[in-house]
Amino acid sequence: MSWEGPGFVDHHAHLLRVAVGRADPCGDPADPEGVRAYHRRVSERWSTPMDEPERPVVLDDRLRGGLERALDRAAVAGLVEVTEAGMHDWNYLEALLALRARRPLAVRVRLFVASGIADVDRMQRTGDPWLELVGVKFYADGWLGSRTCAMRQPFADAPDDTGILFLDADTLARRADRFAEAGWTIATHAIGDRAIEVVLDGYERLFGTDCAAAAPRIEHAQVLTPDLVRRMADLGVVACIQPSFAVADARTARAALGAERAEHAYRWDSLLDAGVRVVAGSDFPVAPLEPLVGLQLLCTGETLDGQRTGAPTLSVERALAAMADATAGTVVLSDDPLRVPEDELAAIEVIEARPGG
Ligand SMILES: [Zn+2]
Repeated sequence: MSWEGPGFVDHHAHLLRVAVGRADPCGDPADPEGVRAYHRRVSERWSTPMDEPERPVVLDDRLRGGLERALDRAAVAGLVEVTEAGMHDWNYLEALLALRARRPLAVRVRLFVASGIADVDRMQRTGDPWLELVGVKFYADGWLGSRTCAMRQPFADAPDDTGILFLDADTLARRADRFAEAGWTIATHAIGDRAIEVVLDGYERLFGTDCAAAAPRIEHAQVLTPDLVRRMADLGVVACIQPSFAVADARTARAALGAERAEHAYRWDSLLDAGVRVVAGSDFPVAPLEPLVGLQLLCTGETLDGQRTGAPTLSVERALAAMADATAGTVVLSDDPLRVPEDELAAIEVIEARPGG
C-alpha cells in the first residue's frame, strides 16, 4: 500500500552550513545567554547576523561531497525542494553548480543570498529548475528564547527589555532597493511584533502599491497581533512559518509574552483566515528537517511523545498546503496523511521523493 501526492518543500532551512559541519554563529538555542550575548555584540557594531563576515568556505571535494550527502538526506526525509535561508558564501553556489552539471540534484535547491554578501551584479538567474537563486535574506531582530526579538512592549519576564532591532524600516528599504528593483524576492527575519511592524513599514516604503506583486516574505512572524495580521494581508506579504516552533516554544512564549500576547502568537490560522499566503520551512538545524515530524507537531500541538503544550494548531489540509507543492515534485508515502490519526503522521514512511525537473 502506498500513497502518492504533492512533494514536501522546505521554504527555510540552513542545510548548506550543516553540510560542511558549521554551527550557526548566533549560537545554540539551548544556550539563550550565549545567543543574547552574540546578538548584543552584533547590534552594537550596527551589523546584523546576516551581515557578519564568516570564515571562507573552501571550494573542494569535501564541500561538494558534504553538499551531496545533505541533499540526499533531504530527499530521504521526503523533500523535493529545499530553500536555503541565507547563503553566506558564494562557494556554496559554485559547488552546487558543479554537482548539478554532472546530474540532477537529489532535491531542487532554492537560494536566498545573505544580505552581507548579496551583490546585484553577481546575482543571476540560472533558469534551471534544479538550482535557482531566488532573492536576498535580511535580518531584523533576534530570537524569542534569548529575549532578543524586538517587541513593542517589554517581555513579561524582563520588564525593562524590549529586545534587539537590527534594522529600521528606512535601512531595510534602502538596502533592499537594488535587489527589489532587479526582481529578486526580499525575505526578512522578524520574530517580535515590533520587528514585524518595522519590516512591514520597510516593505511598504520599498514596494508601495506593488507590494503584493513582489510578494516579499517575513521569516518566522511569531509574535503576531491582529493589526499586524491585517497589514500583512493588505500588503500581500508572505509569511514563512516553522511547523515545529509553536510546540517547541510553547512554554517560552507564555513566559516571555504573558497570557494576553501569547494568545495571538504563532497563530498561523489567523494569517490564513485573513488571506495571508503562508509557506513553511523547518529552520533546520534548529528543528528537525523531516517534514512529517513538523506536520505532526503543527497539527497536534503536542510533542512527539504526546505531551500537550497548548500550542495553536492547523488542520492537516491547511498544513499540507503550506508544506507541499505539486509543482515542485511528488512524494510517495506509506500512507495518506489525510487518513491517518494526527498523532501518527510522523510514523508515515517516505518511500520516495521525486523532484520535478
Ligand atoms: Zn533560519
